[in-house]
Amino acid sequence: MFFIYLSVMLYFCLEVSILGIEDKKFIIRYVAIYIRKSRAEGMEDLEKHRMVLIDLCKRNNFKYVEYMEVGTSDSIDLRPKICKLLKEVEEGVYDAVCVVEYDRLGRGDLGEQDRLKKAFQKSNTLIITPDKIYDLNDDIDDTYADLKGFFARQEYKMITKRLRQGKKIGARRGQWTNGIPPFPYVYQRYKDKYNPKGIVIHDERYIIYRNMIEEAIKGIPPQKIAENFNRKGILTVKSNYWRGETVQRLLTDETHLGKIISNKTQGDGHKQKRPNAKALKVFPKSEWVVVENCHEPAKTQEEHDRIVELIGNRKLIGTKARHQTYAFSGLIKCAKCGHSHTYYVKRNEVFMKPCWYINPVGEKCRNEGIRISFIEKMVLEEIKKYKVDFIANETEAENDTLNSINEMIIECDANLQRQKRALEVVNDAYEYGDYCRSEWLRRKKKWEDEIYHTSNTLYELKKKAKSTAKITNADRQKMLDAFLENITETTDNAARNDLYRTIIESIVWQKNGDDIKVIVNFK
Ligand SMILES: [Zn+2]
Repeated sequence: MFFIYLSVMLYFCLEVSILGIEDKKFIIRYVAIYIRKSRAEGMEDLEKHRMVLIDLCKRNNFKYVEYMEVGTSDSIDLRPKICKLLKEVEEGVYDAVCVVEYDRLGRGDLGEQDRLKKAFQKSNTLIITPDKIYDLNDDIDDTYADLKGFFARQEYKMITKRLRQGKKIGARRGQWTNGIPPFPYVYQRYKDKYNPKGIVIHDERYIIYRNMIEEAIKGIPPQKIAENFNRKGILTVKSNYWRGETVQRLLTDETHLGKIISNKTQGDGHKQKRPNAKALKVFPKSEWVVVENCHEPAKTQEEHDRIVELIGNRKLIGTKARHQTYAFSGLIKCAKCGHSHTYYVKRNEVFMKPCWYINPVGEKCRNEGIRISFIEKMVLEEIKKYKVDFIANETEAENDTLNSINEMIIECDANLQRQKRALEVVNDAYEYGDYCRSEWLRRKKKWEDEIYHTSNTLYELKKKAKSTAKITNADRQKMLDAFLENITETTDNAARNDLYRTIIESIVWQKNGDDIKVIVNFK
C-alpha cells in the first residue's frame, strides 16, 4: 500500500515538472521569437536555433512572429530587427519573447541593458528560453523553476494586459483583421469548430479547395482549373464564375499555410480613393509581419512550394514556346466588352473566333469573328499610314532633354554612393568606440537625411527620364522600319506576334454583320 502511494506521489511530482509551460497553454498565447547568431556561429547554427524555438512554440501552442537578425553586432541600434521588436514589446504586442539564450537580446553597455529591461518591465512581457522563463518585474528572483506557481501569479496580470491591447495589435497576434477570409476559410466559427478572432476551414468548400490544389500540382494552369469548375457549375461563394487570377491567388496565398501576414502595404490601393487617403505603399518582404500557427492549414508547405514553382515556371516560358500562338494573340480586344479574342485554324487558315465572353448572368457577348487575313490587311494599312504621319512630324528636341536628364542621374547616383559610404564609416567608428552615443546619433542622422533626399531626387529623375525616353520618335521610326521589313517575311506565328507587339498596344475590334470597325492603338 505504502509502495503504491509513493509511486503515485512520484508520478505526480514528475508530471508537474514535465507539464511545465505546456500545462498552462492558455496564459501565454502570442510570442515573438528572436534569432541572431553570435560572432562565432555560422548560418547552420541560426537555422538550428530557429528550429528549437519554433518547436517550443508549437509544443505550447503559441502563435509566433519570427525576427531573424542577420548582423552580429552587440549594439541594439545596429540591429534593425531588435529595434523593431523592442518597439513592439514596448507597445505590449507580445506576451513573451523567445530566445535560445537570454543574452541573445543584447549584452551591450549598461545603458542598453537598461533600455532592454525597461521595455520588458513596462509592458510586462516575459522572456522565454528553452529552459527558463524570465520575468524582469520580479525583484526577488527573475527566474522560475516552479513554473506552475509562477503561471498562477501571472494569470491576473496577463488578463488585464490583454484588455489594454488595441486593434492595431490584432494582426501581430494572429487575429484575422483582413476582412473577408480567403476561400475556403470562414471567420471564427464553422459548425463545432471555433477559433476566437481567427479563421476556420469551411468543410464543404475545403473539398473544392483541395481539388484546386491537386489539379495545380498536376500542372494544370489556374485559368484551366477555373474553366473546369465553371463548366461543372462549381461557382464561387458569391455564385460568380471562377477567374484564373482568383484561383492563382488562392493557390499561392500563404494564409492557407496557417499564417497571417500583415504589414504588406500601407495606405489605400483602391482605384476610387477616399479623399485624404494615403497613397498605396508596398513594403518589401523583409518588413512583413508573419504570424505562424494561427489556424488550421489547408495545404502543406511542400504543396505550396511545388505550386509556386509550377506557376512561376509558366510565367518564364517565352513567347516562342507558348502553346498555340497566332500573329494577333492577346492583341485584339472586343470593342463591346474589352476581352481578348481567341483564334482557331481551319483548313490551314487562321480565324478569329467570335467574342467568347459570357457575362455572369449567362449572356453571350455578340461580337463576331472573321478570317485573320482580313484583319491583318486592315492593320497593315493602318501601320503604313501611321509611319507616313510620323516622318512628317519627327522632331529631335526630345533627345536633348533626355541627355541632360541622364547626366544629372549619373551625378546624383555618385553622390548617393558617397553618402552611403560616409554612413558606413560613421557606424564603424561607433562600433570601434571612436564616438560617444550622442555624437554618433547626430552624425548618423545627418547622413541618413542626406541619403533620403538624394534617393528621392534620384527617383524623380529616373521617373522623368523614363517618361521622356519611354519611346522617342526616333525609336518609333526604327521599330516601324524593322517591323515592315520583317513582317511579310516572317512565317512563324510566335515571331509575328512578337513583332506586332513591338509597335502595337492593342487592336479594338467590332463587327456586326457588314458593319466593321478596327482601331489600332500604337505604343
Ligand atoms: Zn466581347
